[in-house]
Amino acid sequence: MVFVVTGRCQGCGACLLTCPTHAIRPHGSPLLVLDELCTGCGECIEICPVDAIEEHR
Ligand code: SF4
Ligand code: SF4
Repeated sequence: MVFVVTGRCQGCGACLLTCPTHAIRPHGSPLLVLDELCTGCGECIEICPVDAIEEHR
């Protein structure tokens, strides 16, 4: 399972603040989700106002 921040991202930063393991890094475009830190909790998907984060299997 991989979480991907897509081009719809508006850079609001809500997912960065929400992620409990700091798996989303504020560098580059799109933002980077570090697989080794991501627990798959889905909180970033819930918080994103523009549905920019997708879960890929
Ligand atoms: S919450 Fe969504 S729009 Fe905001 S920075 Fe994260 S991916 Fe981008
Ligand atoms: S699914 Fe959870 S752990 Fe993974 S990037 Fe999103 S908020 Fe962080």
